Amino acid sequence: MQPKPFENQLAEQEMACHECDLLVSFPELEPGSAAVCPRCDYVLTKRHQNAMERLLAFSVSGLVFLLMSALYPFLSFSANGQERVVTLLQSLDVLADEQQVLLALLIMVVILIIPAAFLMGVVYVIGGLKYGAVLPPYGRRVLRFILALAPWSMVEIFLIGTMVSLVKIASLATISLGMSFWSYIAFTVLMTLVLLHLDKVQVWSWVENSEY
Ligand SMILES: [Zn+2]
Repeated sequence: MQPKPFENQLAEQEMACHECDLLVSFPELEPGSAAVCPRCDYVLTKRHQNAMERLLAFSVSGLVFLLMSALYPFLSFSANGQERVVTLLQSLDVLADEQQVLLALLIMVVILIIPAAFLMGVVYVIGGLKYGAVLPPYGRRVLRFILALAPWSMVEIFLIGTMVSLVKIASLATISLGMSFWSYIAFTVLMTLVLLHLDKVQVWSWVENSEY
């Protein structure tokens, strides 16, 4: 792609509305402002304050909490004088033992592997742009990958599902929630914050600006 002259960066940008296809032009946005479609109020793009720093902080802490939720006990339940402590990975193991290997794999991919890959991709691309001032190797590919993964994040659905099951089990056994459970909640909040701050238009404009 031909690098744009510097003056063009400050000129008006044009974008088709994702919802109603109206062609909207708007000036370079200030941090904290957003471009909204005049016809249907769809938010075209948003500039967050300190977007890069926030994305990095949320992603790194999200990864730490995700790791903690994989390592520590998720919950323990006791019934009839017997107590059992379960970690996230053990619970998948139990599923695998019950001939539900495919389901166990699917859950592991959706609740652990995809979110981890997504957050690591964000740290890789944004960290490179922020501290190296250039897009790291394979940066475009990684960025396309994480932007494609973003809509597939189902961590909050998993959390809601877990809570519903907990309510059911609570009537059968005494449950105490472990460190992993609270870590997963913290991770879900951070993941949501990353998704809210990852504006497609903004990220690609960082990439273009880093290339000359
Ligand atoms: Zn519109």
